[in-house]
Amino acid sequence: MSIIIQAKDISHSYDYPLFTNINLTLNSQESTSIIGVSGSGKSTILYILSSLLKPKRGEVLINDTNIYKLKQNEILKIRRYDIGIIFQSHYLFKGFSAKENIEIANILARKEFDEQIMRALKINEILEQNVSNISGGQQQRVSIARVLSKKPKIIFADEPTGNLDKQTALEVMNVIFDYIRQNNASLFMVTHDEELAKRCTHTYKLINQTLELWN
Ligand code: ADP
Ligand code: MG
Repeated sequence: MSIIIQAKDISHSYDYPLFTNINLTLNSQESTSIIGVSGSGKSTILYILSSLLKPKRGEVLINDTNIYKLKQNEILKIRRYDIGIIFQSHYLFKGFSAKENIEIANILARKEFDEQIMRALKINEILEQNVSNISGGQQQRVSIARVLSKKPKIIFADEPTGNLDKQTALEVMNVIFDYIRQNNASLFMVTHDEELAKRCTHTYKLINQTLELWN
């Protein structure tokens, strides 16, 4: 087990303070989830940890380097090779097949197409179909396949199962948890599904501008 990301004394605010002096360590082979009411700032934490948003105060370390002090091309490299982000609403390229959507990630991250991921996510039969013609749940699974295909060291997931029925959500999360273990990776997830959150190694609740251990 090794440290993948360290967040030190992170604070952020918009019209009002969202959270103050948050500390988090994400380890390989582990998963961390954050629950909290809508508007508490869960997604904002995810954006900050995943290199997309510079916090008002504090630092985010990847390999002991503060990512918000890196040059643009260095941060792009980390985003391309090390970080995978799963959003609730997927951003697939309309008009292209499922396979083409996934192969874009393979090309960018220089990784081989992984049939096993497709079978695990049960999309191997629909790979040649135009993504506009598959169901919402299938689209979400294609977008998750695209993220896993990059073979990222850390997966960020913002309400990843929001658009999936209970059974599919369970199966998809099993695939993600397996991925973490098999690839020595880490998962950081925000969700309002308490049952799902509890499956993670560490679960926190964002409340009163701070993270409380929750179980
Ligand atoms: P959650 O994911 O827990 O629902 P968010 O992190 O999305 O919460 O948002 C927390 C609060 O910050 C909300 O009140 C939201 O309106 C506000 N907020 C988020 N992003 C911005 C932004 N770019 N500009 C101004 N306010 C924002
Ligand atoms: Mg959110």
